[in-house]
Amino acid sequence: MSRKYNFCAGPAALPEAVLQQAAAELVDYQSAGLSIMEMSHRSPEIVAIAEKAEADFRELLDISNDYAVLFLQGGASTQFASVPLNLLGDKTAADYVNTGQWSKKAIKEAKRFADVNVVASSEDSNFTSIPAFDSWNLNKDAAYLHYTPNETIGGVEFMWTPEVDVPLVADMSSTILSRPIDVNQFGVIYAGAQKNIGPAGLTIAIVRKDLLGKSSSHCPTMLDYQTAADNDSMYNTPPTYGMYLAGLVFQWLKDQGGLAAIETINCRKADKLYHFIDTSDFYANPVEVASRSLMNVPFTLANADLDKQFLAESEQAGMLNLKGHRSVGGMRASIYNAVPEAAVDALIDFMKDFESRA
Ligand code: PMP
Repeated sequence: MSRKYNFCAGPAALPEAVLQQAAAELVDYQSAGLSIMEMSHRSPEIVAIAEKAEADFRELLDISNDYAVLFLQGGASTQFASVPLNLLGDKTAADYVNTGQWSKKAIKEAKRFADVNVVASSEDSNFTSIPAFDSWNLNKDAAYLHYTPNETIGGVEFMWTPEVDVPLVADMSSTILSRPIDVNQFGVIYAGAQKNIGPAGLTIAIVRKDLLGKSSSHCPTMLDYQTAADNDSMYNTPPTYGMYLAGLVFQWLKDQGGLAAIETINCRKADKLYHFIDTSDFYANPVEVASRSLMNVPFTLANADLDKQFLAESEQAGMLNLKGHRSVGGMRASIYNAVPEAAVDALIDFMKDFESRA
């Protein structure tokens, strides 16, 4: 077996040690005589797996008891609806920041339920920057402010947290667990699992408890945060296998030294890739330096006619999924927690070699 380096934006690379453990436990989980996928979600094994996953997740992010941790389904895209359905309360307006394709999708969905005020947008600069906070047109009557701390497609990341008077809601799908954050600054954090958490199919929401119980009367039972909170995320059958794998990833992260340690590695990986791109005349990254993503690094080649050749040769060299998003073009290297530093080194070596032959 030879695993290749996977730079996919999501579903993304998982730690090999996690996959090995899952493989070893797949058919007969800890001598139970059956696999996790075949067990009742009410069984002691699954309840223990869920409890440990939640406890480790809380430990990694230092989440206090003021917050509920919910294991949900439907992906981050379902949260685009769940957020207004749960948080509007008796208000009608919500503030949104538009910094890229995922912000736009969140805004579009929220417009079905709320009067959306776009407080700031970087669309005019083709989403290569973050609008300065002092230019934001905040509405003091908004039920919440929603933003996307890391735009997976544009490779734009907030390195700061907006300080607002209304609950702050963050789509952290592609940045969660990449570095420490102060959860106490947020009302709701949500993330699809398929980047730094585990396999697709699981979605995690961290909800400040005082924001529970305010859902609209037409909020579907399954989208109501209170339903999940009241039932330990087991109102219906949860994605048990995804929760198990996420639990293994959390344990792996703790074994790496937690989020401060992974941040150091992530910064080193991103710094060397950006540095290489910036010092090359052949590759370019359009994002303003202060807002460059630690996790998703888009880059273009000086000659787009060479894109296909770059992709074919990089694949041959054992590097997968470097094609940029169709809306941006070029390349994108997603360098999540489970992508080893050696993968970034190999990518830079390949890019140097390709450039020298171009
Ligand atoms: N938000 C962001 C920032 C994302 O990167 C993605 C997926 N790439 C989504 C939302 C949508 O997630 P899902 O596919 O889980 O609905």
